[in-house]
Amino acid sequence: MTERAVFSAVLWAWMAVAAVTGALLLRVSAPYGRHLRSGWGPTLPAWLGWIVMESPSPIVMAILFALGNRRASPTAAAFLILWESHYVYRAFVFPLWMRSGAGRMPVVVAVSAIVFNVVNAWLNGRWLFDLGPDLGATWFADARFLAGLVLFAGGYAVHFLADRAIRTLRQAAGGAYVLPRGFLFERVSCPNYLGEMIEWFGFALATWSPAALAFALWTAANLVPRALSHHRWYKKQFPDYPDSRRAVLPFVL
Ligand code: NDP
Repeated sequence: MTERAVFSAVLWAWMAVAAVTGALLLRVSAPYGRHLRSGWGPTLPAWLGWIVMESPSPIVMAILFALGNRRASPTAAAFLILWESHYVYRAFVFPLWMRSGAGRMPVVVAVSAIVFNVVNAWLNGRWLFDLGPDLGATWFADARFLAGLVLFAGGYAVHFLADRAIRTLRQAAGGAYVLPRGFLFERVSCPNYLGEMIEWFGFALATWSPAALAFALWTAANLVPRALSHHRWYKKQFPDYPDSRRAVLPFVL
């Protein structure tokens, strides 16, 4: 069996697992953060969990770029930069900012996220740096690349600013959970998730890659159910929670 055939089989299976995971997460909230509960085995500090589980993504992607046959390709280099710009933040900056928090995370969550990140980075890296077409410098003028780049950058800005707003509010509240106000929080409970989804659908468009599309679908499968859980939690926690707010898609969901 060629690597391309293995790649296709894994990609289709990966999308099917995303659909099943999304359906499961609608019934059972992933047990970390505010949804942490007993019965999920040993735990580790949440900030450490984030570093351990997210760092495989930037590392595997960088290795695949170095070993692939697109090292001289400007589009491959641009895709690597987009990927790393997200993951350096997610794997190292975000956990260190939350380091003062005493939160914990089940080891099983960190381990499943490591598996997810390794498979996801392998699919994306192999496609972009070897198996997929070399898009060439003319791709930079293609409408799909330009629109995808705008979405990626816009989504990045939204999730970064939402993370920062929450952190500031929480510090001001002495570490307690708060009812977020201002920015996109007036429209949805989880603007950080909205930003992240826009970012990865933008990446899929900019790279025109089936692996990146699978990742965007996975992101939605993880984050839409979690946003719905957060939304229910907010309504229970804060009786004055604004009725007009949706979970993750303004005016819709
Ligand atoms: P959350 O929004 O639940 O939490 C992010 C941080 O903000 C945590 O430290 C959390 O504390 C804190 N926080 C959130 N809301 C409040 C509040 N109202 N009051 C006080 N503190 C608050 O995000 P996740 O932890 O689920 O995810 C972190 C990032 O990872 C997100 O930006 C998400 O987009 C991304 N992610 C991406 C996935 C993908 O598939 N691509 C999957 C999962 C996450 P605490 O931990 O104590 O709740």
